[in-house]
Amino acid sequence: MTSALAVTGTIAYFSMDVAVDSNIPTYSGGLGVLAGDMLRSAADLGLPMVALSLLHRKGYFDQHLDSQGNQIESPVSWSPEQHFKRLAERVTLTIGGRPVGIAAWQYLFTGVTGHTVPLIFLDADLADNDPNDRSLTDYLYGGDERYRLCQEAILGIAGVLMLRALGYQDIRGFHMNEGHSALATLALLEESAGAPTGQRYGEKAVEAVRRQCIFTTHTPVPAGHDRFASELVYQVLGEERASALSALQVMNGALNMTELALRFSGYVNGVSMRHGEVSRDMFPNHHIEAITNGVHAATWTAAPMAELFDRMLPKWRADNGFLRYAVGLPVAEVRLAHALAKRELLRQIRWLTGVQLDDQVFTLGFARRATGYKRGDLLFTDIDRLKQISERGPIQLVYAGKAHPRDDGGKAIIRRIFEAAASLTAQVRVVYLENYDMALGKLLCSGVDVWLNTPMRPQEASGTSGMKAALNGVPSFSVLDGWWIEGHIEGVTGWSIGDELDGANDSAAEAQSMYDKLDQVILPLYYHAPEKFAQLRRSAIALNGSFFNTQRMLAQYLRHAYAPSTNGAVTDFD
Ligand SMILES: *Cc1c(COP(=O)(O)O)cnc(C)c1O
Repeated sequence: MTSALAVTGTIAYFSMDVAVDSNIPTYSGGLGVLAGDMLRSAADLGLPMVALSLLHRKGYFDQHLDSQGNQIESPVSWSPEQHFKRLAERVTLTIGGRPVGIAAWQYLFTGVTGHTVPLIFLDADLADNDPNDRSLTDYLYGGDERYRLCQEAILGIAGVLMLRALGYQDIRGFHMNEGHSALATLALLEESAGAPTGQRYGEKAVEAVRRQCIFTTHTPVPAGHDRFASELVYQVLGEERASALSALQVMNGALNMTELALRFSGYVNGVSMRHGEVSRDMFPNHHIEAITNGVHAATWTAAPMAELFDRMLPKWRADNGFLRYAVGLPVAEVRLAHALAKRELLRQIRWLTGVQLDDQVFTLGFARRATGYKRGDLLFTDIDRLKQISERGPIQLVYAGKAHPRDDGGKAIIRRIFEAAASLTAQVRVVYLENYDMALGKLLCSGVDVWLNTPMRPQEASGTSGMKAALNGVPSFSVLDGWWIEGHIEGVTGWSIGDELDGANDSAAEAQSMYDKLDQVILPLYYHAPEKFAQLRRSAIALNGSFFNTQRMLAQYLRHAYAPSTNGAVTDFD
């Protein structure tokens, strides 16, 4: 799968959040990491692709935690000039009745064969702009509703204008990663009419846009979809654009960005098989497929394991399918590579926190956004039970994760983890690392012994950190939701928490299941059958690493979304 594909025309990929590099704060979490990994794989596969995002000069935020676990947030400072190239092109978009000039910066993803995929960052911080408009592209997921709508207008509408200004005329597909960029569809309608118009666009123009648009939804709960009151839409987008949206019947009292994207996309997908089902239930009037997410294998595999793959499966970087042959790796080598990754994690934890964990002790890892449905504190439901379990087999725990600045429930979860840690001190050591980012994610997913995940079903649309863990020979211990429904084989790739697929969540029962399995299955295996435990590491790589990667994911987008057989195009892999 290394050579260029028989796809004519470029795919334009829109994402509010893109993780380019750990030190560049243009991402907040899973959505951005997925976008970055998708673009890294597009570069590897030689796919003609260009991506758009916003510059986010102030980023998401830096997280500091005090001794009680209170989150203190500060803006991130960084210099785009150190990482990106400023382009000369400018476009103008009218926002709130004022013209706003938008500039562009470029970053190039370079693939294994040298092919590059440009990522264009839109930037409103221009001296000519009204001071109020200059900060419109500064904060990722910050500000109020108006600020968000302005950002989404810039991403969608100015994004399309910028692509044309940069000379991209042959775009065959506009792929919207989540609903934030859905206004790109309006920009395409305006192009077909020659200019913005308050008139109703004809069915032909709508069909032409639908043939070009692809939409990936990531949100399994109705409240998670962006909605903007019509009044605000009139204020921000202006009379013409807002009345066009009304005439298209996509704004009845409010503009729902997901509905807008659904209405104008010819191909729509959820991000795991389960999430596809959930999305079809949520939007019964639309045809919704599913393509399960993945991760960029070479990015997320820690050095010791990557060296083992380079030696034994030398083509794995260009073709992740070779990871399937990890079934034949010597178990002792897998064990050693993981032990080295664990040592590196413990060394970094010591450096960051002063705490020296024990490399012989079973280490459970959990890092994700601190928010209600992820139940980061589920493991502490019954502290006494946890203490009892650890008397038979010692346990240490490593946590990380930020709460969104306005998510008080998420912040309370971090405090509860700190409280539990304090009451467990002598018995079970717990560290909570500040400022979860890509670099920490890689360290944690590769260095812990087992990766924990406790979402409330069906709210984990996919989840990707468990995929990173699998590549590193770290089995998951997780509630059956998102990707894990597909990746889980009990006792082979990891373990389930509970065995429910449907029905209501029962936190008490799930906590029981978690304790029982830790006590009776996982710890005995770790301490008394290390050879068997290492076999599990190996099968996690072979079965899950070989499939849950962005190379496979992109191949599916190509086959089903970018070059579907219905319009006669060929998708061809060598
Ligand atoms: C991989 C990653 C995520 C997404 O992981 P989930 O399993 O979806 O929670 C979020 N943040 C960072 C920094 C990551 O590396």
